[in-house]
Amino acid sequence: NTRPAANSIIQPGFKFEDMGIGGLDKEFSNIFRRAFASRVFPPGLIEKLGIQHVKGILLYGPPGTGKTLIARQIGNMLNARPPKVINGPEVLNKYVGQSEENIRKLFADAEKEYKEKGDESGLHIIIFDELDAVCKQRGSTGGGTGVGDSVVNQLLSKLDGVDQLNNILLIGMTNRKDMIDEALLRAGRLEVHMEISLPDESGRAQIFKIHTAKMRQNNVIENDVNPEEIARLTKNFSGAELNGLVKAASSFALQRHTKVGTMATVDPDVVNMKLNRQDFLNALE
Ligand code: ATP
Repeated sequence: NTRPAANSIIQPGFKFEDMGIGGLDKEFSNIFRRAFASRVFPPGLIEKLGIQHVKGILLYGPPGTGKTLIARQIGNMLNARPPKVINGPEVLNKYVGQSEENIRKLFADAEKEYKEKGDESGLHIIIFDELDAVCKQRGSTGGGTGVGDSVVNQLLSKLDGVDQLNNILLIGMTNRKDMIDEALLRAGRLEVHMEISLPDESGRAQIFKIHTAKMRQNNVIENDVNPEEIARLTKNFSGAELNGLVKAASSFALQRHTKVGTMATVDPDVVNMKLNRQDFLNALE
């Protein structure tokens, strides 16, 4: 396939710092280099190189580490159509008997646009969360419904079928890469694999800063709250857990302004509330 690049230029004004993703700069730029650089090559270069765009990537790693954030930001960055999101367990439970139809529908808009506009088509992103759920049943003899099998087969046929389409990107996500069907991971399918692991200390500080940025902007957080200290105290926390910590600390701060008697009442001075270091220590506990 030597078609020129699909029309998916980087969104003007897009800045990495604005993505709201902490501690994953290296991962993001690796994904970009391996999977998307070709999408922003000058038109014609792909043709000269005789290569194909990457049609699928797999993001794997523990829960709450930002896989969904990355998938969505890739879409923003590439100025793609709003992503379609599908979830493995949901496909299995909700759509029994019509899973193939649902997979077909997922790809339909992209196929239609490509037919109409060819390489002028926008990029269509499909995010498949908890992809392992549909793979578990494949080939298993344990009396499964076989829905997983047909979903995987349908995905494979769509991915192979999109050989002539340059405007589709499937982003699979999982906490269990070992469960993913080998056939899905081959070249031309979900071919770029990226591990998104728990953040290290400096990543945690970055994530904490992201989740408290608004508070600093609105001056509702004391200076004694030190992101580096919080990062030291939150070993093995995921980004989602750091987000949870900020929420919990907020509720401790709000509690200081709430009286609970026969009825809960809120002090009028709540408008002057500020989160402090102790709120975070309480939340951590
Ligand atoms: P799961 O495997 O459970 O689907 P995930 O890896 O897709 O998890 P997200 O849904 O991206 O995780 O993260 C959940 C929330 O946690 C995000 O909306 C965000 O608030 C916060 N979060 C996680 N990782 C990061 C990060 N690296 N930087 C900033 N926020 C993060």
